[in-house]
Amino acid sequence: MGKTANLDIREREEKYINIQPIQAAGRLTADAMKAIIAYGDGYSTCDLCLKPFRLDFIKKPPIADFYTELAEFVNMDVARVMPGARRAFQAVALALLRRGDIALISSLGHYTLALAIEEAGAEWREIPKNEDNILTAEATAEKIERVKRENGKLPKLIAMHHFDYQYGNEHEIREIIKIGHEYGIPVLYNGAYTIGVMEVDGKKLGADFLVGSGHKSMASPAPTGVLAMDEEWAKVVLRTTDARGDITGRKFGIKEVHLLGCTVMGAPLLGMMASFPHVRERVKHWGEEVKKSNYFIKEMLKIEGTKCLSEYPRRHTLTRVFTGGFDKVAKTHKKGGFFLTKELSKRRITGPFPGATKEWKLNTYGLTWEQVRYTANAFKEIAEAYGLRVE
Ligand SMILES: *Cc1c(COP(=O)(O)O)cnc(C)c1O
Repeated sequence: MGKTANLDIREREEKYINIQPIQAAGRLTADAMKAIIAYGDGYSTCDLCLKPFRLDFIKKPPIADFYTELAEFVNMDVARVMPGARRAFQAVALALLRRGDIALISSLGHYTLALAIEEAGAEWREIPKNEDNILTAEATAEKIERVKRENGKLPKLIAMHHFDYQYGNEHEIREIIKIGHEYGIPVLYNGAYTIGVMEVDGKKLGADFLVGSGHKSMASPAPTGVLAMDEEWAKVVLRTTDARGDITGRKFGIKEVHLLGCTVMGAPLLGMMASFPHVRERVKHWGEEVKKSNYFIKEMLKIEGTKCLSEYPRRHTLTRVFTGGFDKVAKTHKKGGFFLTKELSKRRITGPFPGATKEWKLNTYGLTWEQVRYTANAFKEIAEAYGLRVE
């Protein structure tokens, strides 16, 4: 018997208040947990896969309806479930980019986007952030001009987050999409931190592609994500196979090449579907989530040496903080930075990077007001216990 058989129970969400930055909005609903058990068997979704044999046409369970509702949810013509936001970037990059092409990403952009562009044989260039860690339309226009000047051609694609993963700051996404279009460059809206927690309207944004992450922001199991676009782009990115076997003469009908026919099946897909009604409802309460985030940061700032490194007041629940006071304590404590991890753990709070006391990220998404108050008080209590000033 190998070590793989010794699986421990994961009790993080049951035992703790979890403010881990990437886990908060991907926590499952009870309905998703039930669906995962029911659809755990391998190709469980294929019981009634009838002609034309494609995942998104299956009526029972209602996968076809889910795909339609998902497109409506983000207000785009078509949507596909992908194994993570990264696989959506990959499909777009492989469909749009050729060797030697240039794509623009944010200097706060996610590594998976860079890899997707590299895999397609293209190059990525970064749009600089300003001193407030915001990506502006002006910086985008300047970068486009620069690429044009230095390479004699325009970028083929711009990919931009609405809220980035490093600070949770809001960027000039609408204006950046507009700038892209003035140059005739398609823009991919990266909604890894928005789709599933707040209302996102693709048509209103004017984006060419919308990408979301199921396991990050849609209360879904991994690997899940969303790729949405209009009919015109669907002809390119969702193109169907036209090759034929040289011996057998076989053709594979309507299989979508960049999606390798069928994408997410079984438990992850059904988990995502089961959470979807909850997700559709919860995006209406984003304002309240932001209020809780602001309350929490306001309380944290009362602790000596604490700074909010993200924009403040907060417009998101993901925040980067600097806790100079706790860092001062860590310098002389025999456990170093782990003193804070330990003190939090004693109070049944988890999520800050283990051992980190200087710069770290947290996400208050989904906590009740009671949990937010309890957590803020816990930090203040720990600060006081170690002789830090608390306002
Ligand atoms: C998390 C994240 C991703 C990757 O999402 P996956 O669904 O895990 O592929 C991409 N971009 C941003 C901005 C992210 O925060």
